[in-house]
Amino acid sequence: MVDNYGRTISYLRLSVTDLCNLRCKYCMPETGVCKKRHEDMLTEDEMVTAVTAAARLGIRKLRITGGEPLVKKNILSICRRASAVPGIEEVCVTTNGVLLKDFAADLKKSGVKRLNISLDTLDGEKFRRITRGGDLQAVLSGIETALAAGFRRIKINAVLMGGFNDDEISQLAGLTMKQSVDVRFIELMPMVDAGYKDFDYLPASVVLDRVPGLEPLSVDGVAKLYRLPGAVGSVGLISPVSDNFCDGCNRIRLTADGKFKPCLHKPEEFSVKGLDIAEMMEQFRRAVLAKPRWHGEFSGQSRAGREMNEIGG
Ligand code: SAM
Ligand code: SF4
Repeated sequence: MVDNYGRTISYLRLSVTDLCNLRCKYCMPETGVCKKRHEDMLTEDEMVTAVTAAARLGIRKLRITGGEPLVKKNILSICRRASAVPGIEEVCVTTNGVLLKDFAADLKKSGVKRLNISLDTLDGEKFRRITRGGDLQAVLSGIETALAAGFRRIKINAVLMGGFNDDEISQLAGLTMKQSVDVRFIELMPMVDAGYKDFDYLPASVVLDRVPGLEPLSVDGVAKLYRLPGAVGSVGLISPVSDNFCDGCNRIRLTADGKFKPCLHKPEEFSVKGLDIAEMMEQFRRAVLAKPRWHGEFSGQSRAGREMNEIGG
């Protein structure tokens, strides 16, 4: 489907839960999430119906996200059924990697084509601090297991945080030298209540200053790609704040409580909870036609109306 600004919307990000086994400071309040009523969340059948409705209207790529998708009990079934929806060409999963060691092989068997793994630091103590208690080693072995299970070009997402990981940019980019991984640096977005204020915002261009050997490669969706000489993988810069990519936006989001969200940084939502497929298609159409031209100035804070774990990033 084409929106009011001529953009073809072909990419759906489905949040399957807003719960998480970590509490990253820039994503969630320390107190965690305010648990919603079970009956207010989409059921697995509703998720599959919503994906089918969206696919009938042109969605081709599906990313499953959260919260943490791997804490969702029926995640493998959701991946399997979503992969089989006519029109869906690629199902990808974004995960914090903590449970990946146990899930990688089954995710592959369930039809998942690609993985994005969030990793902001290679220092165990700093990882514990930023995630409020997470175990870096679990994530690193999850990445190894996923590579062994046959996932290629795994994307490692690192949020750039001044005073936290700017001293590790070169080391993180260096992960692309030997392994089949692409490292993506993402600018810190000022979400609602989360502790993003504890860190300094850094423009993604800082990566080019810190890693002087990077050679320009291409543009891949929202990422500007570079490569280190002789590297296996690429280094990508994603700049939602300093250089928004709204002109090329091809995406829409569906939250775990069943709201199509036309724009990550706008409060508008279109509910599909309890609807049949025809009604869901109508809500999808409304949401696509409600997509703004761009997310607007942040003027201090995102107007998303929800924290990142409740949207899916
Ligand atoms: N739990 C999974 C994970 O961490 O990969 C999936 C959900 S998480 C909300 C999706 C992505 O959003 C992660 O890569 C995370 O780093 C990113 N994210 C969360 N809060 C952010 C913020 N304030 N600014 C930039 N990226 C953020
Ligand atoms: Fe959880 Fe992902 Fe948010 Fe971290 S970024 S708190 S892992 S949802």
